[in-house]
Amino acid sequence: MPQPLDILGLTRAELAIEVGILHGKPGKGAYHADAVFKDLYENARFAPELLPEFGDNPGLAERVRDHFRLALPDITGRQGDGDTFKFLLKVDGESALETESVVIPMKAYKTLCVSSQVGCKMGCRFCETAQMGFLRNLTAGEIVAQVFTARFVLGEPIENVVFMGMGEPTDNLDAVIRAIRILSDQRGLRIPLRSITVSTVGSVPGILRLAEAAQLRLQEGGLRGLRLAVSLNAPDDAVRSSLMPVNGTHDMAALKGAFLKWPLARPDDFVLAEYVLIAGVNDGPEHARLLADYLREVRACVNLIPYNPRNDSPYARPTPERVAEFFRLLQDLGQYCRIRGTKGDGVMAACGQLGNRAVSRKKSHAEARNPSTLETV
Ligand code: SF4
Repeated sequence: MPQPLDILGLTRAELAIEVGILHGKPGKGAYHADAVFKDLYENARFAPELLPEFGDNPGLAERVRDHFRLALPDITGRQGDGDTFKFLLKVDGESALETESVVIPMKAYKTLCVSSQVGCKMGCRFCETAQMGFLRNLTAGEIVAQVFTARFVLGEPIENVVFMGMGEPTDNLDAVIRAIRILSDQRGLRIPLRSITVSTVGSVPGILRLAEAAQLRLQEGGLRGLRLAVSLNAPDDAVRSSLMPVNGTHDMAALKGAFLKWPLARPDDFVLAEYVLIAGVNDGPEHARLLADYLREVRACVNLIPYNPRNDSPYARPTPERVAEFFRLLQDLGQYCRIRGTKGDGVMAACGQLGNRAVSRKKSHAEARNPSTLETV
């Protein structure tokens, strides 16, 4: 007996294909699939037998109910720091892996920072997640489940999604793109593409693939309006390579080439260049000048993030005066920039602080005991 499909991992078009087959009319499943999809994301319910569209075909309703499943992961933890809090979801019954997501209040709505992987293999030296190593990719359904849980289980008015949690989104791009299609569907959660940001460590092929998708409108199968953020964190290759091993493969010249290919849908759009300010490493006036110079041809906003130290970090956060000075200098040099307020650092929910080293330790002990069982994790 095949396992029921995770309904949160299917786009509306994919759902229609499956339903058409169950209906015995391949290619004709859209009517019933649209009704299921809408009910799922409007009422947080998967009950085809209750939908009027299935009134004259209870047999189809039963087959649909048996073919898919809505199984929300357990919430295994929640830690709050004022208005900002992170929650953990269990993703694997057996190996006790968890996703971490952070709810961040904005002025008129809330943002959800989602994970795309458990752990990460990119090894950025300042980041807590990197200390876990890479454990596994999340499926599209597991990514969507984070938003679904925040909206319907925790009751948070999520209207903005950023892929800035655990993991490198371009390292799991098929699942990330599918999740974006599901989240932005006009008959589903209706999160506009302009309110979804993919943040990458700076993988050039990943940016180029996303850029290609972002050229086309949603109706044409594209992701036009999607926002891009790149973790830059340095003004030159020497500093960047000392912080981020990825720079050895995709250096700053290649990265700038990718920046310039990003389609900006409107005149006031920009690419977000994230810059974690680390005391004594990249926060000097000479760094600000080099950074402004590097970004001169790019329509970018520099998002300055005072460093949130990971556990046992060799790095420190600069003083507020030093951050303000860096900001002022960038502004004087004509570079659009802003300072991101640090939210959630008290509970290790701030940028670069997600991750649970205990999980990776558990995994390596289990691997040592029984290597074959964990190869598929
Ligand atoms: S900063 Fe992002 S890409 Fe780098 S190790 Fe951390 S999670 Fe991975």
